[in-house]
Amino acid sequence: MKPFVFSGLPSRVVFGAGSIRALGEEIGKLGATRVLMMSTQGRAGMVRGLANGLPVAGFFEDAVMHTPIDAVNHAREVADSVKADCCVTVGGGSTIGFAKAIARTTGIPIIAVPTTYSGSEMTTIWGTSEGGLKKTGRDPKVLPKTVIYDPQLTLDLPPKVSAASGMNAIAHCVEALYAHDGNPIVSIMAEEGIRALAHSLPTIVRSPQDADARSEALYGAWLCGIVLGSAGMALHHKLCHVLGGSFNLPHAETHSIVLPHAMRYNQSATEAMQRIARAIGAADAASGIYDLEKKLGLPLRLADIGMKEADLERAARLATEAPYPNPRKVEYAPVLELLRDAYQGRRPS
Ligand code: NAD
Repeated sequence: MKPFVFSGLPSRVVFGAGSIRALGEEIGKLGATRVLMMSTQGRAGMVRGLANGLPVAGFFEDAVMHTPIDAVNHAREVADSVKADCCVTVGGGSTIGFAKAIARTTGIPIIAVPTTYSGSEMTTIWGTSEGGLKKTGRDPKVLPKTVIYDPQLTLDLPPKVSAASGMNAIAHCVEALYAHDGNPIVSIMAEEGIRALAHSLPTIVRSPQDADARSEALYGAWLCGIVLGSAGMALHHKLCHVLGGSFNLPHAETHSIVLPHAMRYNQSATEAMQRIARAIGAADAASGIYDLEKKLGLPLRLADIGMKEADLERAARLATEAPYPNPRKVEYAPVLELLRDAYQGRRPS
């Protein structure tokens, strides 16, 4: 067995249908008395409903995708003006991103209540975007202290958003399986995370209110979040950061579309590909993921989510300038070819 390093990240997880009822107790455990409740505008109604009886100092309901720096500064001002001593986020990675930005400068704790599958709640990774570029980094201060996973809160997540978000989560596991700093524990979690999501997402798309499928998907998302926080991501994530940060493409759909092509690029990582194929029950990992996405009714072409063909070369340049460690050398020409395949939505052969 190859030598490895494993560092577990300290967070408390409360999982299960109805677990949101523990929110007040969890706030108390952190000793917080002035909570800033955070959400996107779309989730604001849900959050106001959950706030009854909690020590709420204020609401921030303007979270948006990609944490643009102006909006982040506004969120920091709100936290400061209400003297918040804890951020509670209800929503997906966009909302958590704003709480992380506040925690980074103030150190106040975060309680995350994730309602998508993207996994930010389990990581020390922060990200902001400014002037068309996305900046990311790691800081232990931004790791949520407590995470409440309540599948009941995900029942209204639209099937298309659920499917794309689930594929975003699967992408973390895929890259963890061939990460330069991977380890056997992370690989077990990654394979199980892929299995749980690949198994539950088709049911969710057919019947979004299926409580068991929602539970299994959220469990898978938790595992995917842990592996995202524990292993270095590679070419796929780099491409998605470039496409999201510099071309403003939607986060989860971009992950979903690029994933099978990034996997084909990295097909020489044979052990990882075998484990992924086993987890999704397919003969071939990359085309199996593409077929799963097709079955889920997801968009398959970057052309369909706002990418311009004329921008593919710039995207390939940005993605190859300072690449993340990757099993196969990251080079401009094959990366451009990968992007062209994703642009046209070709099934990986
Ligand atoms: P999101 O937070 O943008 O949410 C997607 C949409 O779903 C939003 O409109 C939201 O209001 C809606 N929504 C959320 N929960 C809902 C529910 N229960 N019912 C109905 N609608 C609901 O999506 P996301 O994909 O989770 O987050 C994307 C962002 O998170 C990106 O900016 C990405 O960079 C960041 N991210 C960061 C990390 C990290 O570790 N730092 C990890 C993953 C994603």
